[in-house]
Amino acid sequence: MNRTSDEVKVQGPSWDLRSEYPGPDSTELAADLRALDELLDKIEALNPTLVGALPHAPDLDAVAAAPSLAAAQQVFRLSEQAGPLLSNPLTFANCLLSVDAQDEAAQVLQGRLQKYQKRYGELLEPWSEYLDLVSDQIVEAYLADPTVAPSAFIARHGRERRHELLGLAEENLVSGLAQDGIHAWGRMYSQLSSTMTCQVQVGNELETIGMAEAGGLLQKAEERTRKAAWHGINAAWKTHEESCAAAINAIAGWRLELNRKRSKVRAVHFLDAPVHMNRLNRQTLDSLLEVTVEARPLSRRAALAMARATGREKIGPWDMRAPAPQLGPERPIEFPAAMELIADAYAGIDPKLGDFVRMMREKSWIEGTVSSRKRPGAYCTGFEKSRTPRVYMTYQGSTADVITLAHELGHAFHSWVMRDLPDSQRTYGMSLAETASTFGETAVRDALLARAENPQERFRIMWEEMTAITAFMLNIPARFSFEKAFYEKRDERPLRPVELEALMSQAWQEWYGDACAEPDPMFWASKLHFFISGLSFYNFPYLFGYLFSMGVYLRRSTAGPDFFDRYVALLRDTGRMTAEQLARRHLDVALEGPAFWRSTIERLEPRVAAFEAVVESLAR
Ligand SMILES: [Zn+2]
Repeated sequence: MNRTSDEVKVQGPSWDLRSEYPGPDSTELAADLRALDELLDKIEALNPTLVGALPHAPDLDAVAAAPSLAAAQQVFRLSEQAGPLLSNPLTFANCLLSVDAQDEAAQVLQGRLQKYQKRYGELLEPWSEYLDLVSDQIVEAYLADPTVAPSAFIARHGRERRHELLGLAEENLVSGLAQDGIHAWGRMYSQLSSTMTCQVQVGNELETIGMAEAGGLLQKAEERTRKAAWHGINAAWKTHEESCAAAINAIAGWRLELNRKRSKVRAVHFLDAPVHMNRLNRQTLDSLLEVTVEARPLSRRAALAMARATGREKIGPWDMRAPAPQLGPERPIEFPAAMELIADAYAGIDPKLGDFVRMMREKSWIEGTVSSRKRPGAYCTGFEKSRTPRVYMTYQGSTADVITLAHELGHAFHSWVMRDLPDSQRTYGMSLAETASTFGETAVRDALLARAENPQERFRIMWEEMTAITAFMLNIPARFSFEKAFYEKRDERPLRPVELEALMSQAWQEWYGDACAEPDPMFWASKLHFFISGLSFYNFPYLFGYLFSMGVYLRRSTAGPDFFDRYVALLRDTGRMTAEQLARRHLDVALEGPAFWRSTIERLEPRVAAFEAVVESLAR
C-alpha cells in the first residue's frame, strides 16, 4: 500500500516541461548547447578588436571608433541569440531539480551549464567595458543601428555612473582584488551561518540544532517555541559577534574607501549605487521614507492588533514570521476550486486576466504536487525560447497556498504581457518586480474576504496582510535606518560589536516604538542581507515594491474604464523606464514627491481598521 499518496488529501497538478525538451540528455538540448558554443566562438573572435580599443576608448572619434563600434554591435546581436540558448537549459535543469532534488541527469546538466555561464559572462566583459568608456557620441552611433536600438534604455542607464570609473588598469585591479577582499568576507559569513549551531530549549531539554532548523521554529504557532528559538539564535550569534563585526566593518569599509577613490568628478554617496541599481532616484527614496515615518502610527496599530489577537499587549521580536493563530479547523480548498476563485478574482479586474489564469492551468504550466522530494518554496520562472511562464509551488489547499498561487500567477502575467518585447527590454529592477504579484495577491485576498462566512475566516485572511504591513513598513525601514546610521559612523572608524547592537536597538525602537516588547539587538548579525558582498541596502526595494504595487492596486477603482489597458502598458514598460518615468506616464503621478505615497497609505488605513474590528469582535 502506498501510504504517502493516501495521506495526501489535497494537491495541485504537475507541470509540463516537455514542450521545451524531452529530457535533460535529449538531442534537442544538446543541439541548443552546440549552437550556443558556435555563437560564443564568434563573440570570442570579435573580442580582440574591442580589447584593443579599450585603452583609448574615451578619446575615440567616429572614424577611429568604426571597427570597434561595429564589433560592439555585432557582439550585442550575438548575445541576444546566445542568451536564450543558455537560459533555456538552465531553467529546464532548475525546474527538474525543484521537483526532484535527487534527479541525477538534471544535476549533471546543471554542472555542465556552469562552464557555459562562466564563459558567457567573461566573453561579454570587453563589450560592457567598452560601452561604459566611450563618449556619448559613440554610444549614440552604436544605438543608431535598428537592431541595437531596443537596448537604448539599459545602455544609457548603465552609463549614468560612468563618472565614477577609475582608469582601466585600476578597475581591473579592484575587481581582481575583490574576490579575496570584500567577497571573501561575504563568503566567510555564509560559511559561518551554514555551519553554526544553537541551543534551543524544547520542553525541559536544551537541544543543539542547526540555524536553518532554528529559523523554522520561528514560524511555529506556539509563542513559547518561537521565543526559545529566538533566544537560542541570538545567543549563538553573540558568540560569533567579533567575526561578524569584522565582516560587516570590512564590507562597508571597502565600499566607502572605493567611493572616496571614485569621487574624482563628484562625491559618490553610499546610497548612489543601490538607488541606481533599482532604477530610482534619491528624491523618490527620501519621499518614500518620509511618508513611511508619517505612517508609523498606522503600522504600529497593525502590530498591536496582532498582539491583541494572541492575548498580549505587544508583539515580540520573535513574532515576525508567526502564523495566524488557529481559531478552528481550516477547510482545505481543492486545486480546481482555487484556480476558479483566482480566475474570478482576476476577471473582476478584467476578463482577459481571468482568461490568462485559465490558460495557465489548461497548458499545464503550474506545478503544485505534494512530494517529499520537492524543494520548498514557490516561484515563477520562464523559458526564454518559447517565452512561456511556469509557476512552482507545493499546493495543499490552505488559504495561504491560494494566496501564494495568486502571487506567482501575478508574476507569470507580468512576463506574459512582455513576451513579444526584445530581451533587452524584458529585465526589470527589484523595485518593480513585485508589482503584478502583489496586485494579483491582493485582488485574490479581497475576493476571499468577500466570500468569507465568519469573523474567524476573515481574521485568517487579514492576518497575512497585517504581517505584510508590519514587515514592509516597520521591519524593513528599521533595517534601512540601521544600515544608513552604520555607514555614516563607519566612515569615521570600525564599530565594536556593542556599538552595532546599540545602533540596531535604536533603529528598532525608532520604528516599532511601543508596539514591540523588546528590541532585536543581534539582528545586525543574524540578518544575512547586511553581509551580501555584491550589493548593499537590500531593504528599501522591498518597501518601495510593496507601496508602489499597493498604490497601483488601490487606484484601480478610481482610475477609469481604461485602467486595465494602462496597467498592462505599465507592466510592459517596466524593463525600459525608470520607476519615476513609468509612474508619470501610466499613473499620472510623481514618485519624487510625497503625494502618491501619502494617498496610498490613506487607502491602507481602512484595511487596518477592518482587522482591528475583526479582532475586537472575536475577543467578545
Ligand atoms: Zn514575488
